[in-house]
Parts: sequence; C-alpha cells; structure tokens
Amino acid sequence: MPGSVDLSREIFHRTQTHPSHPPVVTTVWNDHAEKKQAGNTTFTSKVLFLSMSDHAGTHVDAPVHFDPRPGAASIDQVPLADFYTSAICLDLSHVPLKHAITVREMEAALAESGQEIRPRDTVLLWMAVNERLLGKPGYLHDFPGLALESVRWLADRGIGMFGVEAISPAPEGEPNFQAHMACAERGITHMECLANLHSLVGRGRFTFIGFPLKIRGGTASPIRAVAMFG
Ligand SMILES: [Zn+2]
Repeated sequence: MPGSVDLSREIFHRTQTHPSHPPVVTTVWNDHAEKKQAGNTTFTSKVLFLSMSDHAGTHVDAPVHFDPRPGAASIDQVPLADFYTSAICLDLSHVPLKHAITVREMEAALAESGQEIRPRDTVLLWMAVNERLLGKPGYLHDFPGLALESVRWLADRGIGMFGVEAISPAPEGEPNFQAHMACAERGITHMECLANLHSLVGRGRFTFIGFPLKIRGGTASPIRAVAMFG
C-alpha cells in the first residue's frame, strides 16, 4: 500500500507472549501432500492450525480485560470507529529500560513532535523496546512504560487509545496494574506489541487503522495495525 507503515508483529509458532498468557502454537493441519476427495474431485490444499490467547501478537485490549465492573465492553462490543482514527507518534526512545515515563517527559516529547493531541486521537509511543529487547529474555520484563499520571494525562487530552511496543503499557508489576486500572477509570484503552513505530517519528499526523477480530466476549484481539499517510 502506498504511504503505509505496517505496525504489526508477525504471529508465529512460540511468538514471545506475556508470561501470564497461553503460548502461540501454529502447526500444519494439512498440506498439499495430502490428497482429499470431494465427490468425484481429488484436490489438495494447505491449512494451518492456530492456538493462542486473545492477547497474542500485536493486539488491542478490550475494557472487559481490565475493568471488573459488570457491563464493561468486550472486544466485539467496542465501536469500530475507535480503531480507525487520526493519530500521532511520540519519540520516547531515549528513556531507560524499566523507566516509568513522567508527565514532564510526555510534554517534552509532544513539544518535540511539533504536534498536538486532539480528541479521539490514537497516540503511539515509540520507546525503542523492539530494538532493545525483542527476542531477548528481557523483552518480557525490562520494558519501560507510562507512569500512572501519564496514562491520566493522555486520557485528560481526550484520546481514544494509546499504543506501545512492549507487552504492557507500564513497567512490570504494580505500575502496569495501575495503568490498566487508569484506562478503566478514564474510559480509554491501549494496544500492546506494536512494531515499526520508529518509522512514524517526525512524520506528523497520520491515520491509524487496526481493526480487531469479532471475538465473542473477547478480552482483546490481535490486530493488523497500519499507519496511512497522505
Ligand atoms: Zn494491556
């Protein structure tokens, strides 16, 4: 696609996933070596079998994942317009691993971008997590993320969702739990395990597209996240 950047990671056998989620398993269900019969026709085809969490690969969390209140939306209940929005990306690639990004650091990154945050925006946050950690054991534990007040700062600017490359939006443990609860309080959500965010830095405003699968009661869904320019 002209003017597009693919923001999704590949899904493959044993993709690195959050330690509390089931593993990604993909295998060949049948292939062209196997001849099949349909009436008088003999044919071959290839099909994979997939087994994975609804949080596998690049995905968006549904409110029901982190909001314990009855009626919190599952992924099939979230309006599709939430996944097709205007967007910007902030450069936070300089933050140390395991760091909780402060509001001052968010304000500085926004100023540096020369952009503004508008209501319903998707705000992507490049922390150079994939460059520093993907494929290493530290990927599951050492990522930086947002401090609680920075999640609230984004929500106060009226965003719809934000997105990160790490498996969690905030550093592991209590900060991550608090960041998820802040999303519940403020009615926003976030995406995890994004890719190629470095390609968006310095390129201004774009259209973000990342529709979830229609998983009944889904607590999240893998997405094919794309930035469209022009
Ligand atoms: Zn999450």
